[in-house]
Amino acid sequence: MLKLLIAMLPVLCCAGAQNLDIYWIDAEGGAATLIVSPSGESMLVDTANRTPDDRDAKRIFASTQLAGLKKIDILLTTHFHSDHIGAMPALAKLIPIGMYMDHGPSVELDRPQVAAAYKAYEEQSSVNRHIVSAGDHIPLKGVDIEVIMSHGQAITKALKGAGAPNPTCADFKPHGVEPDPDNDQSVGFLLQFGKFRFIDMGDLTWNYEQKLVCPANLIGTVDLFQTTHHGLERSNSPQFVWAIQPKVVVMNNGPRKGGPASVFDILRHSPGLEDIWQGHLALGTPKEVNTDEKMIANLETTAECKGNWLKASVDSKGKYTLTNPRNGFSKTYEAKP
Ligand SMILES: [Zn+2]
Repeated sequence: MLKLLIAMLPVLCCAGAQNLDIYWIDAEGGAATLIVSPSGESMLVDTANRTPDDRDAKRIFASTQLAGLKKIDILLTTHFHSDHIGAMPALAKLIPIGMYMDHGPSVELDRPQVAAAYKAYEEQSSVNRHIVSAGDHIPLKGVDIEVIMSHGQAITKALKGAGAPNPTCADFKPHGVEPDPDNDQSVGFLLQFGKFRFIDMGDLTWNYEQKLVCPANLIGTVDLFQTTHHGLERSNSPQFVWAIQPKVVVMNNGPRKGGPASVFDILRHSPGLEDIWQGHLALGTPKEVNTDEKMIANLETTAECKGNWLKASVDSKGKYTLTNPRNGFSKTYEAKP
């Protein structure tokens, strides 16, 4: 026990004085990523699910407390599905939210559940709501965050240093039409802090990913990639993953959502990949296909899950350390030059 406590000390103490900290809050296959800038300002990306016991709102709140936050400065909602906005009303009762950002009106208002959740969002966000477009910068002090995709539109010009033709586009095999079209309205962004680059594309699906990487790669490469769409095979095409060439991947999957063998295969064939970290052991995928157990935050089914988060802490020189609080395991990586 003492050993475990000592191992956890760097995690529990000294959160983010000059570092950029990113927490992946476990939401059993929902999305909630908390970004705490070295400036002390924070942005939460998505608010996960609504449950009768407000499980996800409480988990998100707990990580804001761990990070020492008194408010969430910006809430970015990638899109209006229940696993991304479900816990928002409950969370807003626990901690103030300064500003709301999103892609604009849901495109699924013909679905009564989506329409109700969207109406609640409109009311709650009306104090300070901003609709973002590709090319906009999100005003989180201390880091540079550029929106690269929103309401189905990608940036039209390559980011600095990017724009090379993508040879894998010749092999692209399109998927059928996406049954949940709000996924493709997702706000996607690239965050830069010094040399370090992190990408989160919400639930953008396979066909829409191509707008950013085919025929030319408009993004360039990244250090850390949050798998798109919880690591589902409806997203994470080889054209996209092998273009951005992440060194480290965090899969925000659930016990039975995301992480099929085909996605692991695409990730592992990505040039320069060092490690995959997972929010959950993917129970429907063979154990040996999942990443090494020490890099998985939760091993149980949802009913037994303790909801451990994963964390990345990035210093101003480009060193970034990922930590698994379940076992105290951590590993440090170097941002690409
Ligand atoms: Zn989702």
